[in-house]
Amino acid sequence: MDSEPYDVVIVGAGPGGLSCARHLSGSGLRVLVLEKNDRLGRKICSGEISSKVKTPPGFDRGHPWTEIHVGTDTTKTVVRLSRPFLHTVGRSEIENHFKSYSDATVKFSEPVTKISPAYVETPKGRYGYRHLVGADGSFSSVRAHLGLPSENISGWAFHCILDKPCTEFQMHWLPKTLPGSYGYMMSKNRDKTMVGMAWRGEFDHKLAAQARAWAGKTFGIDTSRLKTEAMRGNADYRGWEFGNVYLVGDAGGFLNPLTTEGMAYAMMSGEGVAKHILGKPEGRAIMKRMADAHIWQVRLFNLFTNPRLPFCWMLNWVLENPNGKVRRKLFDWVFWNLIDG
Ligand SMILES: Cc1cc2nc3c(=O)[nH]c(=O)nc-3n(C[C@H](O)[C@H](O)[C@H](O)COP(=O)(O)OP(=O)(O)OC[C@H]3O[C@@H](n4cnc5c(N)ncnc54)[C@H](O)[C@@H]3O)c2cc1C
Repeated sequence: MDSEPYDVVIVGAGPGGLSCARHLSGSGLRVLVLEKNDRLGRKICSGEISSKVKTPPGFDRGHPWTEIHVGTDTTKTVVRLSRPFLHTVGRSEIENHFKSYSDATVKFSEPVTKISPAYVETPKGRYGYRHLVGADGSFSSVRAHLGLPSENISGWAFHCILDKPCTEFQMHWLPKTLPGSYGYMMSKNRDKTMVGMAWRGEFDHKLAAQARAWAGKTFGIDTSRLKTEAMRGNADYRGWEFGNVYLVGDAGGFLNPLTTEGMAYAMMSGEGVAKHILGKPEGRAIMKRMADAHIWQVRLFNLFTNPRLPFCWMLNWVLENPNGKVRRKLFDWVFWNLIDG
């Protein structure tokens, strides 16, 4: 074991963990980040950021998206927006940017395999802590150590990867084909494209096969030889503070289930927890705001994805012709609230 316990051990060097480390920087606390991968930027993700993620002037946010192709079970429409709603920054770029602002020690290839009330263990060592931050994503070992399940709401994304940059941002709302799911064509960082589906619930091989077939038919491609990926998202928020153990980002269930945007919420919760550890009341206020917003996101998600309720079909009606006069007003209001809110 390192002779002295660290003031803060953060498990996971994703946006949540690195944001926490960054906001602890300059405080004089000894902070250690343990990351299971050998480098940053490996998380399966589209790598897109919204206006919620602030970057300094001159920072290259990547490709700006000002058009969205909106599909339903029967229609497809292009919606042109007045300003970029997302930028494809890329995971590696954003994580390296955040790491460069932190004075924490970051150790790579150190998966945390054991957690006790005083220390964590990896195959390379044992590290004592005063505060432990679980920023280890949707399969969080810290969350498991706390005995918290991830079931309401969690889901899976399954897609095929095209080895070329994404040229169209497409979202397909599919209440008839597969209720509670949506189809997508999105970037995979700056150089690749992913086409597939996301659904609520556990991983299912039948649904994965359906997603592959849907992508092949919708985008007119042979998916049989394409590389595929599956990834879980966790929106099951059950609290963030458990004594001297804290959960941020997907580990805490902060993913927005409506948009599957998660990096901004991971960064915000990382900041909130860091400020709380530093004794700043602002930290608790940030976490309360996030928890309150999350509860509404979950309520809306439950209303919209239930095909037995009228909300699901109201959304379908808007998305069937999102450029129609009244529908466009509704579309813009909901869309920009989700993106900017
Ligand atoms: C297909 C898909 C596309 C998405 N696209 C977007 C998008 O474009 N924009 C967006 O904002 N959100 C997107 N999301 C959601 C987003 O990826 C997550 O919400 C976000 O990455 C959460 O950040 P995090 O820091 O909490 O966790 P993660 O990014 O998952 O980071 C956790 C880190 O912990 C490490 N780790 C895990 N276990 C251990 C362990 N035991 N020991 C040490 N380290 C460990 C992991 O290697 C990882 O580096 C997408 C999700 C999916 C599934």
